[in-house]
Amino acid sequence: MGFMDKLGSAANTAKWKADQQMRIMKVQNSIRDVEKQVNAQKAALADSAMDLYTQGALADERLGAICVQIAQLNAQISGLNENLHQVQSEQPPSEGAAAVAPPAPAYTAPAAPAYTPPPAPVAPPVQPLEAAPQPAVLVCPECGQVLKGKFCPEHGVAGVPAQA
Ligand SMILES: [Zn+2]
Repeated sequence: MGFMDKLGSAANTAKWKADQQMRIMKVQNSIRDVEKQVNAQKAALADSAMDLYTQGALADERLGAICVQIAQLNAQISGLNENLHQVQSEQPPSEGAAAVAPPAPAYTAPAAPAYTPPPAPVAPPVQPLEAAPQPAVLVCPECGQVLKGKFCPEHGVAGVPAQA
């Protein structure tokens, strides 16, 4: 009898969990719906503020600053839309135009000078190799102790590279 009870309660628990999951999703959907309404009202609020701004009737400075940003972004969108229309109205090159088009050599010219500078940067890596060992081990010429800085703290003289 106890075994059957356990089976029954397990089934009940699974059923309850499924039901709980359903109820959770239902409430989550409700929250999302109301959040959408809030966002719609926020958009309406923003539009109203924007209207006041364009009429010069917006007194609040903080809202005004946001409106300036929006106006600039809107101007950007207008510019992008013009670009879009330009691209959309482009025509594929005709065969005659294609024959004229090949001033492609113009592209090879800028590429060549780009390759010549690299030889110069090759030299610097040699310098760090020569310079590095010097500051690495400096010793005081008076007492011979290895210095952490450039000068001996006891004798005040400049360190010299340690001799092997
Ligand atoms: Zn010293």
